[in-house]
Amino acid sequence: PSLYKDQQVIVLGLAKSGLSVAKLFHKLGATVIVNDKKDRQSCPEADELDALGVSVLCGGHPERLITPETALVVKNPGIPYSSPPVAQALGLGIEVVTEVEVAYLLSPAPIIGITGSNGKTTTTTWIGEMLEAAGLKPIVAGNIGTPLCEAAQAAEADDWLVAELSSFQLKGTDQFRPRIALLLNIAETHLDYHGDMDDYIASKAKLFANQTKDDTAVLNADDAVCRDLMASGTLGARVIPFSTARELDYGLCVTPPYPADSQEPDDGAERRIVWRDREGGERDIAGVAELGIPGRHNAANALAAIGACLAAGAPAGALAEPLRNFRGVEHRLEFVREHAGAAYYNDSKATNPIATIIALRSFPQRVVLIAGGLDRGSDYMELLPHFRDRAKAVVALGETRGKIADVARLAGLTAVKVVEPEEDAESTLRLAVREAAALAEPGDTVLLSPACASWDMFSSYEIRGRIFKESAHNL
Ligand code: ADP
Repeated sequence: PSLYKDQQVIVLGLAKSGLSVAKLFHKLGATVIVNDKKDRQSCPEADELDALGVSVLCGGHPERLITPETALVVKNPGIPYSSPPVAQALGLGIEVVTEVEVAYLLSPAPIIGITGSNGKTTTTTWIGEMLEAAGLKPIVAGNIGTPLCEAAQAAEADDWLVAELSSFQLKGTDQFRPRIALLLNIAETHLDYHGDMDDYIASKAKLFANQTKDDTAVLNADDAVCRDLMASGTLGARVIPFSTARELDYGLCVTPPYPADSQEPDDGAERRIVWRDREGGERDIAGVAELGIPGRHNAANALAAIGACLAAGAPAGALAEPLRNFRGVEHRLEFVREHAGAAYYNDSKATNPIATIIALRSFPQRVVLIAGGLDRGSDYMELLPHFRDRAKAVVALGETRGKIADVARLAGLTAVKVVEPEEDAESTLRLAVREAAALAEPGDTVLLSPACASWDMFSSYEIRGRIFKESAHNL
């Protein structure tokens, strides 16, 4: 980045990360121009840049923003490549990157990059806690917490920068080379932005593109795209595969493996996580039942996190404790408390039926489910077999309360409560928690996993989750 001294750098998009990039290049002596199509009033970060003397242009993209003088464009991952200034820059052969590339060029610390369709935040946070417990120095940054650029500036050579990365961020990289790279899984999402699945996969594969044999790639052997990548011969790094579905000769796996298509088998088997090295050695890491967060998907997240920590030099013996003690990330199957013998979990981040199905299937116990929220026309009938197998009662609230209660009744449940709106949303949710508590018996799980977004009642899933937790604590 110091190459850009006295050169013009254009920052597109003025959110938290745009601010950090602009300040960074300003400090390095570049001439920085920041542009955002939002109005000035919607760009609270602009004042700080004004004070530094950085030009901020809000309320549209000026026609002559990009000129042959421009040395570099750093764009927010959310801005599409078809946006006029981006297209202009590319047309002039000017490099367009995201903050991730800048952070890489700047960071004295090696980077652990985590990507995938699901489980990124959980795995990233878990890696941070495990490295910490092992006596290493992680800095968790990116979409969670400090912008990556800011963390990279503050980092020292013996730190580990642990970064959650989206495909949007990865698409805008060039030389980016994480010392350790994780690809958790690929689901068919985000297709509207990337146009097609191939482009989405290509963005994810950029994570590995510059890696060499001194680097490590941790990949999910249960995922078809990961398997293709491993078989393609294009990975330059040492590969650590992981699997919950099959015994692996080499890598990290669950033994005995989970049966196909079973999230929470009640076959009485005691599943363990083991590491197998190339020489035929095996090391027991932890029992799956001991993991701090439940569910097969979290066992997979644990495998990936362990792979990263071993590659970073953490001793295997130091990992069992943080594997057990991890409480999960807020609002994602987060354990809240025990009350009258029932365990309360907050999964407010579950904003679609699939996420709620995963949550329901993560508990061996019967679940008293609190669900419902904004009606986006999802197919709630998908929930039916899972209600039948896993739920003992359903408490429905929000716009979709009628639809969800109908599915619960069709599933044969007799304990179905519909919570009609109280004078405010908070009271409605509190009432739902009390109704659920009344239906729960010792040994049950009470779970908020709404299958819907929160906007019919709350401004965010975070607020919904916090009110749930507060209500559970007040029981
Ligand atoms: P992300 O950061 O990728 O959105 P999170 O760690 O925030 O992922 O988890 C969000 C939700 O995704 C969880 O509540 C859970 O329902 C689901 N999930 C988490 N890990 C996995 C996984 N490995 N495979 C499938 N679904 C997962």
